[in-house]
Amino acid sequence: MNHVLAIDIGGTKLAAALVDASGSVLRSATRPTPRQQVMAALEGLIEEVTRDGPEPVAAGIGCAGPLDLAAGAVSPVNMPSWRGFPLRDEVRERTGLPTVLAGDAQCMALGEHWLGAGQRSRALLGVVVSTGIGGGLVLDGTPVLGPTGNAGHVGHMSVDPYGERCECGGRGCVERYASGPNLARWALENGWTPGLASSNRRRPNEPSPDRGAPSSDEVIPDAPSGDARTLARDAAAGDSVAVAAFERGARALAGMIVSTAAAVEVTTAVIGGGVSQAGPVLFGPLEAALDDIGGLGFVRAVEVRPTTLGVRAGLAGAARLAWDYSRSAS
Ligand SMILES: [Zn+2]
Repeated sequence: MNHVLAIDIGGTKLAAALVDASGSVLRSATRPTPRQQVMAALEGLIEEVTRDGPEPVAAGIGCAGPLDLAAGAVSPVNMPSWRGFPLRDEVRERTGLPTVLAGDAQCMALGEHWLGAGQRSRALLGVVVSTGIGGGLVLDGTPVLGPTGNAGHVGHMSVDPYGERCECGGRGCVERYASGPNLARWALENGWTPGLASSNRRRPNEPSPDRGAPSSDEVIPDAPSGDARTLARDAAAGDSVAVAAFERGARALAGMIVSTAAAVEVTTAVIGGGVSQAGPVLFGPLEAALDDIGGLGFVRAVEVRPTTLGVRAGLAGAARLAWDYSRSAS
């Protein structure tokens, strides 16, 4: 049985696996992304999954962008030590394998199309909602990478030309409304107290329902952090600001999905990334917003689904990329 080497590179984690033609994983390993010497860490990881095993026939890499496909180079926003880093050639030289590169969210979309929630979709949009928002398109089974490899950057699609300035320099980008940190930022700016709704914590001067007034030595637990995970718990517990933050983010996502569907007739949108774990507090308002925003019949027909592969989608897509590359090369 032949295998390919799949590699997924993100700002927090490096992952590698040996994957067969049916998508089964023979071996896999992960390690945290170091701040420096990332290539040395990646080399160790590759050695770990390939040692004494079957020789892979090709390598596929999904890496955080932006990237320069012609040069095979990457400049991940969250990895300052790699700027114009020639990742494809570095991996090719170290492994001796035919090596192919794509964006991490493009790989997520390809993975979901191959083995996950997007199987048999003619036109799939994969969206990763996390610290940032990434995306990828798979049309008629083929990933759309774009001339420089950056197609699918839907997080920086503007849903409000008069909106807030995004970190990318653009205005009204989806990411500004719907990424994890931006959901939490907006909620905090609008009076959210992290963890109050979901943990039944009492404010220090609030009387305890069962023991009367709190004693002076009662320990007040550390305040939960104001992150998107806590925000999701609070929204599920009914916190009105947390609910509003997810409704606002979902509306921005819906605008982007509807626009993408109008442009390339996307039939399926698969949503992954850490924020998608919020579940109904995200997907409920997302469905409602899609219903409100979409007009034309083929746009309204777009089906939104949560990821079924989760964090494994990127590796699956990198494997698929490698398989397609090895077949086209032979
Ligand atoms: Zn932007």
